[in-house]
Amino acid sequence: MGKPTGFMEFTRELPGKKAVADRLKNYNEFVERYSDNKLNHQAARCMNCGVPFCHHGCPLGNVIPEFNDAVYRSSWEEAYDILRSTNNFPEFTGRICPAPCESSCVLGINQPPVAIEEIEKHIIEIAFDKGLVKARKPNVRTGKKIAVIGSGPAGLAAAAQLNYAGHLVTVFERDDAPGGLLRYGIPDFKLEKWVIDRRIKVMEEEGVVFRCHANVGVNVNLNDILREFHAVVLAGGSTVPRNLEIPGRESDGVYFAMQFLKQQNKRVAGKNPLSNAGIESNIVGEELSAKGKNVVVIGGGDTGSDCVGTSNRHGAISVTQFELLPKPPNDRTVFMPWPTYPMILKTSSSHEEGADRHWAIATKEFIADENGRLKALKLVDLEWKFTEDGRPAQFVERAGSERTIPCEMALLAMGFTQPQFEGLINELGVELDDRGNVKASEKEYHTNISRIFACGDMRRGQSLVVWAISEGRECARKVDEYLMGESLLESKDLNLIAL
Ligand SMILES: Cc1cc2nc3c(=O)[nH]c(=O)nc-3n(C[C@H](O)[C@H](O)[C@H](O)COP(=O)(O)OP(=O)(O)OC[C@H]3O[C@@H](n4cnc5c(N)ncnc54)[C@H](O)[C@@H]3O)c2cc1C
Ligand code: SF4
Repeated sequence: MGKPTGFMEFTRELPGKKAVADRLKNYNEFVERYSDNKLNHQAARCMNCGVPFCHHGCPLGNVIPEFNDAVYRSSWEEAYDILRSTNNFPEFTGRICPAPCESSCVLGINQPPVAIEEIEKHIIEIAFDKGLVKARKPNVRTGKKIAVIGSGPAGLAAAAQLNYAGHLVTVFERDDAPGGLLRYGIPDFKLEKWVIDRRIKVMEEEGVVFRCHANVGVNVNLNDILREFHAVVLAGGSTVPRNLEIPGRESDGVYFAMQFLKQQNKRVAGKNPLSNAGIESNIVGEELSAKGKNVVVIGGGDTGSDCVGTSNRHGAISVTQFELLPKPPNDRTVFMPWPTYPMILKTSSSHEEGADRHWAIATKEFIADENGRLKALKLVDLEWKFTEDGRPAQFVERAGSERTIPCEMALLAMGFTQPQFEGLINELGVELDDRGNVKASEKEYHTNISRIFACGDMRRGQSLVVWAISEGRECARKVDEYLMGESLLESKDLNLIAL
């Protein structure tokens, strides 16, 4: 334990952020780094609990008190070794994870929790700065070849682990660069893309092969893959957006969030925003801009929040966000006690930049002008009934609350329903679960087809980056066991040589 009295001496402090007016001028990350002193104080707050509930909260089982202690002692190599033992990509989770570990931190019972996510980000960035992140190769190659389809965090984690196990891994990605939603979903102001490039370079040095513009089941023959590879990991994500099929949906000005966000990420990357390799259903023939428009974002989650931040950077006249559900409470209630992940009100950095947020609202109609261009939304307020354990269950429309508001751009950010069936899934004929995701148990990750495994959002449905990494790692272990009879992954006997 770093400092026994640390939690009494120091309170939680997060690093500074650039002023809103400055950060809205570009798409750069704006969260600053801690000073050495502040980082030391934040790590000192960890109490090294007898039962560290932070482990329970983290899907990766990150060994948090141990790395906090190493950070407190400025033992950077040790901190990095502890962190990478459970997480292949702390530079992603350290930036964009909702940090369920912090929700279950014991200190959080009566004080603000330890700033675990920021500490994690500092460990990996310091490790890169100090040259501690070195490519590592397996001592022995098994001769087994594995295809990973999809290069989001699940596919990347599976590929990194399977490569460490000694297999020869090729990652197939239909888009023009690896990263999945990290690259072409999450905006640069949350995760600059050089962070992904830096990791891909390490993975390439370690021996992982990336094949982009390779849409398996469309321009890459599935049978060729099945012939060439000993096992296949499906990690294609959950990419079909939930639609809002109300009158006027076809109006010019109503778009899926991903059409808007992906274009912006391509623009920032200096690429043609309309080049939308592989996601045919998302192709729109025009460049989308929120500039000079009243924008309404429909949907209150991460995707909606990213639309808010992007619309403000475009120069929207107004940005409004609607959520169907009622406004969550500011603090935990009896129905969400510590150490559960609480469904409380979250204000993202994009919300801080300016958004008019409304809850318990349904959109009834998109109203277009005579040229078919969106000009207004028809709305109604909702009254919710709750279950006995406090969950919103049913709603009725509030009589007399129907009204219209001006809106020239509506962005649908209501989540994703399932993976895309056309191409890969249909051709493979793999079994799906009740929700339309690829069916494979959380224990085995094996689909109903021999040699074919699935992980990440394609298996569990729309989720989080930390879950995708966790699934990729677990799935890799199951593939390794399937091919070799046992797996040394995550054991001390795994023999890797630093290059
Ligand atoms: C806008 C947005 C913001 C988000 N923000 C956050 C956040 O802040 N924090 C967080 O934790 N989570 C966030 N998420 C969720 C998170 O991004 C996902 O849960 C995570 O990326 C899922 O990882 P994955 O590897 O399973 O799939 P994905 O990241 O979706 O990657 C799948 C990849 O597979 C490729 N692919 C699909 N089919 C084929 C094929 N046939 N051939 C070749 N390639 C194929 C796709 O092109 C894609 O690159 C956000 C999601 C969105 C949409
Ligand atoms: S629960 Fe919080 S205080 Fe306890 S070990 Fe984990 S991070 Fe430290």
